[in-house]
Amino acid sequence: MSCIFCQILSGQAPGTILFRDELVTAFRDAHPIASTHILIIPNRHIVSVNELEEKEAALLGHMILVAKQMAEIEGVAEKGFRMIINTGPDGGQSVLHLHLHLIAGKRARFTLG
Ligand code: AMP
Ligand code: ZN
Repeated sequence: MSCIFCQILSGQAPGTILFRDELVTAFRDAHPIASTHILIIPNRHIVSVNELEEKEAALLGHMILVAKQMAEIEGVAEKGFRMIINTGPDGGQSVLHLHLHLIAGKRARFTLG
């Protein structure tokens, strides 16, 4: 299993896990670009948005709702936040396990990748 995010899910690699349910896991990005930088990923290995099928629509919706929940817990919901899903090489995706970035807090401009 070479996927770093699958290794975090299985406990084989370290990660600061904040939330987990039957569908998704949220953990802190190892290289945060803002004071809040959390990744929300499906527990099942899906490479990217390109691999998503109609039957996964609810999973994607759930990822967004968990991001919203994490924003509330982090205390950034009111001020606002960004949710970013990079896809493919030109989309700046460096880890090939679908992930939604929740980014908020100090830092005027956000750049990824
Ligand atoms: P992306 O460029 O959209 O694929 O984002 C991948 C993100 O994963 C980057 O923001 C990295 O900092 C983050 N990342 C890579 N390896 C780890 C890791 N072992 N634990 C937590 N975050 C990681
Ligand atoms: Zn994976």
